[in-house]
Amino acid sequence: MTNTPSSEFDFLADADLDTLAVRAGQVRTAEGEHGEPIFTTSSYVFESAAQAAARFSGEEPGNVYSRYTNPTVRTFEQRIAALEGAEAGVATASGMAAILSTCMALLSGGDHVVCSRSIFGTTTVLFTKYLQKFGVSVDLVNLTDIDQWQSAINDKTRLLFAETPSNPLGDVADIAELASLAHNNQSLLVIDNCFCTPALQRPLALGADIVVHSATKYLDGQGRCLGGAVVGKQELMDEVLAFIRTCGPTMSPFNAWVFLKGLETLRLRMDAHSANALTLARWLQQQPGVEKVFYGGLPEHPGHELAKKQQTAFGGVLSFKVKGGRKEAWQVIDATRIMSLTANLGDAKTTIVHPATTTHGRLSDDDKASVGITENLIRVAVGLESIEDLKKDLDRGLSSL
Ligand SMILES: *Cc1c(COP(=O)(O)O)cnc(C)c1O
Repeated sequence: MTNTPSSEFDFLADADLDTLAVRAGQVRTAEGEHGEPIFTTSSYVFESAAQAAARFSGEEPGNVYSRYTNPTVRTFEQRIAALEGAEAGVATASGMAAILSTCMALLSGGDHVVCSRSIFGTTTVLFTKYLQKFGVSVDLVNLTDIDQWQSAINDKTRLLFAETPSNPLGDVADIAELASLAHNNQSLLVIDNCFCTPALQRPLALGADIVVHSATKYLDGQGRCLGGAVVGKQELMDEVLAFIRTCGPTMSPFNAWVFLKGLETLRLRMDAHSANALTLARWLQQQPGVEKVFYGGLPEHPGHELAKKQQTAFGGVLSFKVKGGRKEAWQVIDATRIMSLTANLGDAKTTIVHPATTTHGRLSDDDKASVGITENLIRVAVGLESIEDLKKDLDRGLSSL
């Protein structure tokens, strides 16, 4: 049993994305199992004291302890790395653990980070509250304003961090442009690819250095468990893995197995999420109770052309403004019967949420205004139910406005 793909699986070297999603990282024990086994073991035994010594010193590759490596987790790491076109990947206990581990591994006190303002709220808290405690300074800029990125960079800037498309308005940043900005200033570009997944967008191919994921969302796809991943060049991932070994935000083997099952259907699901979201966005545009719809797949969205260039589809998340304010938005949300009122996304089940009072509730009024979060805005993470039923579900509240 080895974690290095054996010659049995050599054909994967030039396999395409759909094959890698199902097969990459695959290993097979002497039992000949077809499905990936879950290795629920905290430690591993050695054949001799000499082998133990060689494993501990790193002279001999192989497992020592599951905080470092576990075959099921390793399979997930190899599969997500293969899908992103990365040299290596490291799995983590959650998406936040992926972002924290990247920062802890690559930043030191005195370093500076430039980060888009419209990122996942908890990531902003990590940067502005916790990293600042350790002497890392952070500037927040508008995702799509390249001049703001440029002028925020200084000679201490080590990382640029962005999420594209943004949540919930779907603004799109030019990854190649941000990458050259980063590289001209000896910095690294980190992209949170949670909304698109490698099925729709591969930031490393556009020049990004590192991709982080909340596997909790679309990689799982059915809202079952938490996990994360960091992928990129081997030397960078060695640093991230060293942090995980020391500090312990490790992915559990069971969760890794769930994510492996999720990845097998990733492309099919992302295509279906995207098709449902586009149909729903077009339908919403025609409803008299709706003021404006935000979805990168609509030609009038400001990010549409760029999204078409760097993504293969537009994903499952859309948002829209109802005519009115908080009262009307809540009325539409509360009238739904099928959609789940929850802040999660990336699930087969459609979710609906009021960003101003939940996901973005911690922002000051000024910050809400600057990222376009208004009281009449509703976000829908479109799932895999029948699109006709989803229309009816929104119409329950919209038709009464
Ligand atoms: C959910 C999310 C995260 C955090 O992931 P967890 O698995 O919840 O820790 C990070 N980035 C984005 C874009 C997310 O949606």
